[in-house]
Amino acid sequence: MSDEILPPFSSGVNATHDPALQSWVEAANDPKSDFPIQNLPLVAFEAEHHGHTHPHLGSVIGDQVVDIGQLAEAGIFGDPEEDLLPRALHMPTWNFIAGTPELWSVVRERLQGFLRADAPGGQQARRLRQKALRPLRDTELIAPMAVFNYTDFYASKHHATNVGTMFRPDNALLPNYKHVPIGYHGRASSIVTSGTPIRRPHGQTKADDAAAPTFGPCKMLDYEMELGVYVGEGNEIGSPIGKDQVEREVFGMCILNDWSARDLQKWEYQPLGPFLAKNFASTISPYVVTLEALEPFRTAGFSRGASVPAPLPYLNDEQDRTTGGFDITLEVYLQSAEMLKRGLSPVRLSRGSFKDMFWSFSQMIAHHTSNGCNLQPGDLLGSGTVSGPTAESRGCLLELTWDGMGADGKPKPRRPIELPSGEKRVFLADGDTVIFKAFC
Ligand code: MN
Repeated sequence: MSDEILPPFSSGVNATHDPALQSWVEAANDPKSDFPIQNLPLVAFEAEHHGHTHPHLGSVIGDQVVDIGQLAEAGIFGDPEEDLLPRALHMPTWNFIAGTPELWSVVRERLQGFLRADAPGGQQARRLRQKALRPLRDTELIAPMAVFNYTDFYASKHHATNVGTMFRPDNALLPNYKHVPIGYHGRASSIVTSGTPIRRPHGQTKADDAAAPTFGPCKMLDYEMELGVYVGEGNEIGSPIGKDQVEREVFGMCILNDWSARDLQKWEYQPLGPFLAKNFASTISPYVVTLEALEPFRTAGFSRGASVPAPLPYLNDEQDRTTGGFDITLEVYLQSAEMLKRGLSPVRLSRGSFKDMFWSFSQMIAHHTSNGCNLQPGDLLGSGTVSGPTAESRGCLLELTWDGMGADGKPKPRRPIELPSGEKRVFLADGDTVIFKAFC
């Protein structure tokens, strides 16, 4: 390794967020594009290089994938032989970069410099542009991070209240909720990338009126619309991350589907929480949207109001209260096999906002490490189902098809959702495709 001096880590809005910036990749300048030059999500894909197929790091701009390894070889990120950064960009995942916050802004700035409409366009640049870009639609994106540990939180008070009401009508929100960011340790081995088919799990369930449990296919398969963060620098075991260090701990965000088998969950969740109802699969988007790209979309944290106690000092931070939220719109769509066959577009089931979360990612990280537990670069932390105050913002079918409580104090029969094909859904059917969108 050379002894180059890394720039100091900085955060906040900067010149890379300028809304007027345009790219020479035409599709990126379309106002409807998910991937303008201000976004530049980080991805990985399989490609041939010097006769071997192996994972490459990349980014997405407009309708194109940029091969970052090619840019590194061409010297865009420094001396390819001597410097740390270009060599790190030949690794198969983004974990090393995640763990080195000083490199985050450099990657973004150099990549954007290459893609800007006003970048120098000589013959050499034209050749590199041709060599480094490939159409997104012909590229299979793979997992951008190696996730060794996954924790899922429960940070929406609206979700916790709705679900609590169904399971415990007299005791919906447990007394710890407003004090402790609740979570459970999920399973990293079953995290899969978007597009991977999910097999309906089998398991043990017990109907309310049955004397004994039975084993068989899950009958209440659900999705949970969540966002995840990838941990940045992490911490040594025994050294909690203070609230003033949390900025270095979120490398970027992804969309997360915490697939849930509700009938298994109901029978198994007491006394230790979710287990086989959750760990059969969790789906991530193949894009890591960096925290830096999201800076302009920060907003105030959840407003607790006068009746809710302030969090304990280690979770109570002035900056987090004013800018700890993110104004990200989240949508869920469903397309059944029948709809696909008949050419019917996916139908929107819900629309919510990440700004409605009770706990911020900063609070989740401060809490997770407060006992000395160590987080590592690339660890995935899920937010929990994102549900808002309105019925249309409910982030899972368990809540969407809930019809409130009956006069007998028990939940009323579920109200099915009618699809454009005339089919009905209370939970997912075989062949359904679930599509999550997040934008800001
Ligand atoms: Mn969840």
